[in-house]
Amino acid sequence: MGLKKITSKVFYYPHQPETDRPMLAYLKGDKIVLAIDAGNSADHVDEFYKSLKIEGLKKPDFTVITHWHWDHTFGMHKIHGLSIAHHKTNEFLKQERAKLSDSAYTKFLINDDECLSREYADNKRIIVVPSDIQFEKELTINLGGITAKIFHTVSPHSEDTVLIYIPEERILFLGDSTSEDFFNDDYMDREKLRTLINLIESIDCKYCILSHTEPLAKSDLLDYLKSILK
Ligand SMILES: [Zn+2]
Repeated sequence: MGLKKITSKVFYYPHQPETDRPMLAYLKGDKIVLAIDAGNSADHVDEFYKSLKIEGLKKPDFTVITHWHWDHTFGMHKIHGLSIAHHKTNEFLKQERAKLSDSAYTKFLINDDECLSREYADNKRIIVVPSDIQFEKELTINLGGITAKIFHTVSPHSEDTVLIYIPEERILFLGDSTSEDFFNDDYMDREKLRTLINLIESIDCKYCILSHTEPLAKSDLLDYLKSILK
């Protein structure tokens, strides 16, 4: 499996359902390279960076996190450059790190999640760290030629949801934001989903990119999300 290209400045390393690895994005500015999500382990980060090397691309300067869930953050300790996360993401990550100091909790995670148990087979260690850089509401980074508009939003999936919009390329990265809340019996908060749908509609984008599927056209995603509300 290799890196895929969406535009001349936007690439992604595809998601891997077997171990719940999300898609990892690569935004190639003229000055700064920004990756989206750190992946679910050190191995995931290594594999992503290997795919960059094959394409002759440098490692990211920054990596922004879409939300705190393990599959998006447990690789944070292994990334090149600095990580960026919303303050709520860091709160969750610090709680997770504290819980992991108890080996019973590690065992619980492995028993509870087949994908995690496959990723962390052979006693690979789970390492959780908060981000280097933290923001409250939004953060805009001029990457050189393209801009990353990073902002917190309401989502049925997690309280700390962050979206990344690249206006020049008309691409919106949504993480897992459109999914139900796996930590609350898969509860789908319809009001939150409605708010998120309205937000997506208001953004001028061609592609909507979710973490665990291939890139979607905006209209296809909206049709699907509206069908949930029917
Ligand atoms: Zn998630």
